[in-house]
Amino acid sequence: MLVSMAEILKKARKGGYGVPAVAAVNELSARACVAAAEETNSPLIMLCGYGHNPDMDYFGRILNDMATKTYVPVALILDHSATYEEAVKGIRAGFNTIMVDRSKLPYEENIAQVKELVRIAHAAGIGVEAELGHVGVGENYKVDGISALTVPEEAVRYVEETGVDCLAVAIGTAHGVYKGEPKLRFDLLEELAEKVPVPLVLHGGSGTGDANLALACRKGISKVNIANDLFKGAYDKIQEVGMEGNNIYALFPMLELGYKETAKHYMKTFGCAGQAWTGKQYVSTDSIPDINEAK
Ligand SMILES: [Zn+2]
Repeated sequence: MLVSMAEILKKARKGGYGVPAVAAVNELSARACVAAAEETNSPLIMLCGYGHNPDMDYFGRILNDMATKTYVPVALILDHSATYEEAVKGIRAGFNTIMVDRSKLPYEENIAQVKELVRIAHAAGIGVEAELGHVGVGENYKVDGISALTVPEEAVRYVEETGVDCLAVAIGTAHGVYKGEPKLRFDLLEELAEKVPVPLVLHGGSGTGDANLALACRKGISKVNIANDLFKGAYDKIQEVGMEGNNIYALFPMLELGYKETAKHYMKTFGCAGQAWTGKQYVSTDSIPDINEAK
């Protein structure tokens, strides 16, 4: 069942658990994600960006169709839209949340661009996630926990002025594989969770470690983006099974199984297994704030 991401995250924040936003980049991986949520009775957030699948017009419709058909609550987010055009295309493609990433821009410019897209998205009943501070790419630098962290006072004003529905924060994680050991700033997370009125999001979940991520979820992170580890889970599974001879026919089923098992692992680790609230009779009462409410 397609529900708003705001509704999933509001429940997660209240319940003190996190929800993995799992990368669904083609039909195989999307099916694995839906199956993982159904088998663990979890709310599901599927993310996809243009870097994962360039044919978003088509793939967005596939995701939307899958979300509508399953009984677990599902939200779809266009990840890291970098331009105005990408964001609007994502809305048209069937995503019910868009991430508008202007985290490399100066603070005021970030606010101005995100605020404009919030007005457009909310008018269309679509939620918006934005990023403040900057979550970089792990391979590009040694993780030292001091690169472009989110400043709490800036985050409070940012949310007020833009009207975003949730905020991705930089507390020491990085995208993709890490060069060093990630050191999360839990003290900063506690302060952000206390001061920022919308649910908080962590990008770069892969490779951060189960203990770190579970603690982050308990301390106020409501959504953790996972991509790299899912791909690795799929790859490891075909290595484990072996693809010699006619085993090659198991290639796609085993990729899907490895992907699904990794997704289920994170649903259990973050505490969202068993938290799906929808059934066949469920009707969502939640909605995205009216355009007039967004400042
Ligand atoms: Zn990201």
